[in-house]
Amino acid sequence: MIYFDNAATTKPCEEAAKAVCEAMRDNWANPSSLHGLGLKAEQAVSSAREIIAKTLDTDSECIYFTSGATESNNLAIFSAAKTLGRHKKKIVTTKIEHPSVSQPIKYLEENGFEVVYVSPDKSGEINPADIISAVDENTCLVTCQLVNNETGYILPVAKAFKAIKRLYPNVMTHSDCVQGFMKLNITARSLNADLISLSGHKIYGPKGVGALYVKRGVRVLPVNYGGGQEKKIRSGTEAVPNISGFGAAVETFSNSIEKRFEKMSELKGYLGEQIESVEGVSLNRFSESSPYIASVTVNNIKSETLLHYLEMNGIYVSSGSACSKGKKSDVLKAFGYDDKAVDSTIRLSFSHENKMSEIDEFIRQIKNAKAELIKIKQ
Ligand code: PMP
Repeated sequence: MIYFDNAATTKPCEEAAKAVCEAMRDNWANPSSLHGLGLKAEQAVSSAREIIAKTLDTDSECIYFTSGATESNNLAIFSAAKTLGRHKKKIVTTKIEHPSVSQPIKYLEENGFEVVYVSPDKSGEINPADIISAVDENTCLVTCQLVNNETGYILPVAKAFKAIKRLYPNVMTHSDCVQGFMKLNITARSLNADLISLSGHKIYGPKGVGALYVKRGVRVLPVNYGGGQEKKIRSGTEAVPNISGFGAAVETFSNSIEKRFEKMSELKGYLGEQIESVEGVSLNRFSESSPYIASVTVNNIKSETLLHYLEMNGIYVSSGSACSKGKKSDVLKAFGYDDKAVDSTIRLSFSHENKMSEIDEFIRQIKNAKAELIKIKQ
């Protein structure tokens, strides 16, 4: 099997799987219980919190566990709307956000907020000046992802947020960093973000766990009300196994961010070189992009047809975003891909376990697919 769908989810590492099992078998108490068993569970949660905070170069008090980045994004957005939105009714975002950002924003837009959607320019890239100039005194929130999950394009978050914070210190800045965390060298401070969303299962941890970084002093209001866990921001008994697994994955890989980045850059570079030798196939390029994600357009073959062809030959890829199953991607359109390109673009997303020989096999299968599939009516 060749697995090139790591932006959809990663295979949990052994360390994460072990931590999850251990917590389920031996550390199953409620972290809120006052007895010793509860304390042990609470210590596991605290230890994971510290590991994640350290990787973002921040304090553990700034990390709040959630059920995943979808919840973190919703919490960040609705919180900003609640805390500042009574008097400031404007939100600035981009046209290329994940649905877990664009959908809550759409809800707010339908309920009285004015939303400015910044689009990529002709070259397919977001100009930080376009984000900055969209913000004014009436803005409560700017939310901008760090790495686009469909193309790998890296957005100019740090630059835009820095200028915005200088001009309007009270505007809330949020970044969905799901595809950048543990892959790019980022810290909470370097992004100038008040709020940062993270997910466990994109970085070799379990599914169903994520985190929201909240800068010290920034006020966050809950979406769910209940037992008051996570300093009242996220009620609900902490998912100790998932949180332990998340912490274990981060601990395992946090010292190799640069090394893995280099390895992935070589892999994507090699893919780019090899693709040039195949007519009608192109790697979609950006001035700044994550080496973990490659957007590949194969002219005249529908992405779903190609996806299944590759799957039959043991290669797992994604058509656009895994979250927009069966739906044409608005995000690729926003990047300026025409309808034909949207229909025939696949996403390859890598992990450190992928090898050059797997790229060779992918190229071989793409050549076969072109020979076999273009002949038949799709
Ligand atoms: N944001 C981005 C950029 C993503 O790629 C994803 C996962 N597809 C999410 C948010 C949602 O993450 P989760 O699955 O943890 O809810």
